[in-house]
Amino acid sequence: MGNPAVQIVAPLEAWLEDFRSTLEVFLDAYCVVDIAGKVVDFNLAFTELVGESHRKILKIGNFSDLVRLNSDVNPCINVMISEKALRLDEVLGSTKAYPDLKLIIGAVPVFSKSREVVGALITLRNVTAEAVLLSKYDEKKKDSVTDGLTTLYNKVYMEETITKSIKNSLRDTRPLTLVMCDIDHFKKVNDNHGHQAGDYVLKLVASTLKNMMRETDFAGRFGGEEFVVLLTNCGEQGAEIFAERFRKGIESSLFIFEGKRIPVTLSQGTATLNMAWQDGLNPDTLLTELIHQADTALYQAKNAGRNRVVQFKKP
Ligand code: GH3
Ligand code: MG
Ligand code: MG
Repeated sequence: MGNPAVQIVAPLEAWLEDFRSTLEVFLDAYCVVDIAGKVVDFNLAFTELVGESHRKILKIGNFSDLVRLNSDVNPCINVMISEKALRLDEVLGSTKAYPDLKLIIGAVPVFSKSREVVGALITLRNVTAEAVLLSKYDEKKKDSVTDGLTTLYNKVYMEETITKSIKNSLRDTRPLTLVMCDIDHFKKVNDNHGHQAGDYVLKLVASTLKNMMRETDFAGRFGGEEFVVLLTNCGEQGAEIFAERFRKGIESSLFIFEGKRIPVTLSQGTATLNMAWQDGLNPDTLLTELIHQADTALYQAKNAGRNRVVQFKKP
């Protein structure tokens, strides 16, 4: 829109005359600033974005007073000095209308016919809503793969992850171990201390597990009080060290609920992907086989008296 009330230097006015019909098709907010960073032209979307009337925008004048950006880069000054186009992605900022803004900003210098910089054209896209939607989508996605109580991965996600990991292990001939963990006599915790105490124990076991794992490992809740740990690039020796450390860690942790100490131990069965017997088996079959082996070892640990680790050995 033309602004007869504002003083515009002749070369910038000439540029605006030439480009006004082009500017009119912009759907995003835009403004044109002069060499001093003063807004001299803008569209309705810019008025809406800054939340000031047409007259007030011209009165305030400075772009940086109308759109406050949390960025070291001032798009107006930057493009006028560098004489190059600029794009800033996801800049945080605020205007009178929007106290929390996320913007994508494009800026180009405006040249006079004699190739001198006389101003800049700034376009502003408000992506605040998209950013909120994206973060909600990420949260939903996370919810769909994790267990609500322990925040460990759920069974479906773990099975997918283990299958992928088996494929990688076979390709790179690296070892991989599954550890199946089950809290001992957990029913008694619920019976003696109540279901809430049981939930508290599950959460604390899960957070202890998370703290003990490497970043490249994965832990999931497989069932009620059963957890599975995927140790990537880890053979029998490493698995033994990990499982023993976890067992001792739980045994020696203080589980205190409503002032009462709850003794907690767990039994574990480990199964390491054995390159000798993988021949001809596909990753899905290997997943079932590994889980079965870790379960068998866990069963042996329970039968041998609980609070222990048993490694699966092929008979
Ligand atoms: P074992 O040493 O042989 O594993 O005995 P156990 O008592 O731990 O095993 P059992 O399978 O007999 O009992 C598991 C109990 O776990 C029964 C069930 O009520 C409880 N449980 C399962 N899910 C949850 C949960 O989300 N919260 C609570 N508090 N308890 C749960
Ligand atoms: Mg149990
Ligand atoms: Mg169980």
